[in-house]
Amino acid sequence: MSKRPPRTPRSGVISNGRALRPARSAGAARPSRDPAHRPASVQASDPGSFASQWGWDRPFEVYEDFDLPTYVGPSTFSNLPWITDPAELRARKVDVAIVGAPFDDMVTHRPGARFGPRAIRGAQNSSGSLNSLQLDVRPFEELTVVDAGDANIVPARFDRGHAMIFRKVREVAATGAIPIVFGGDHSITWPSASAVAEVRRPGSIGIVHFDAHADTAPDSFGQLAGHGSPMRRLIESGAVLGRNFVQVGLRGYWPPVEVLDWMREHELRWHLMTEIEERGAEAVIDDAIAEALDGPDSIYLSVDIDVVDPGSAPGTGTPEPGGMLPRELLRAVRRIVGKVELAGMDIVEVSPPYDWAESTAMIANRCALEAISALAVKHRDGGAVRHVAPAPRTRAAARA
Ligand code: MN
Ligand code: MN
Repeated sequence: MSKRPPRTPRSGVISNGRALRPARSAGAARPSRDPAHRPASVQASDPGSFASQWGWDRPFEVYEDFDLPTYVGPSTFSNLPWITDPAELRARKVDVAIVGAPFDDMVTHRPGARFGPRAIRGAQNSSGSLNSLQLDVRPFEELTVVDAGDANIVPARFDRGHAMIFRKVREVAATGAIPIVFGGDHSITWPSASAVAEVRRPGSIGIVHFDAHADTAPDSFGQLAGHGSPMRRLIESGAVLGRNFVQVGLRGYWPPVEVLDWMREHELRWHLMTEIEERGAEAVIDDAIAEALDGPDSIYLSVDIDVVDPGSAPGTGTPEPGGMLPRELLRAVRRIVGKVELAGMDIVEVSPPYDWAESTAMIANRCALEAISALAVKHRDGGAVRHVAPAPRTRAAARA
């Protein structure tokens, strides 16, 4: 009945001969190579009278932060290390870096997307070394993926916010890592894609943009930096050519005719939701890939979560019924990232206060995982993932 718990030897070495060591801090977490959540070490407490009375001084397994359940510890994407120092991103040769853009000052309707990055990071119930059934790859074994933290945002300073997002994304992308940015309202794509376009120079980017809305308004109530205008600003500034700007999933009652006229004038290409209904998502995505890659070297992918039907993704600022199925979007992300050179990506407009059962945040989280898994397949097959800037042209080469 009163079976005594095993006692811990005072030597500090437990019976299997492994030395005790403390759990690692979140910042130092290193992905384990073990998918089965095996303990990293065993730890016993100092003997004390209550501990020995109840057996709390027994040795217990200690897990790496990466292998702990996702509800334990700081909320980083997939329990990955939180590394904000660009020198450290370089030193580790990081392939993919998550960046948070917790900014929603520019919404025209429901707010809340500033809480998106935390919700997207947290919307995951599997930890440790994940295995993609879709792509038969273990992404965190193939690639070095970290969470590079958030842009330095404060409320109600939209110009400062956009500047800080631009700087953060540029800083991360300049290390060679592929940034995957969690918004935030869609206005963050203006600084984020600008930063990626700048880092990729003299190469060029195309953009594939999933959204119910075109986001090409000249302004919103006089505001040029609103979340209805980022794509217009990107094209006006020359960050991307209109003809390499491809939109998928547009529907509903916006934009008005004059905005569509501007889009035609600038040779944008778009695929309405009705086209997906008629031709199927697969055929439309293949066209979108061909159009975006018609010229540019790489693709920036921008996913407004409202491209998904609000029945599945209610937690967003400007929901529009009649959208894509989550499985169509996830398949599209896999397909695009598998076929093109990915320069960067953002996943935006997740508004957790309007979400139910985290379903919107989970779709956003899986968009990131699908992209990372598709990059992992490329890496496994010998392809490059990190961006290596071309060597500066020497005078001799320039003369040649
Ligand atoms: Mn949008
Ligand atoms: Mn939208």
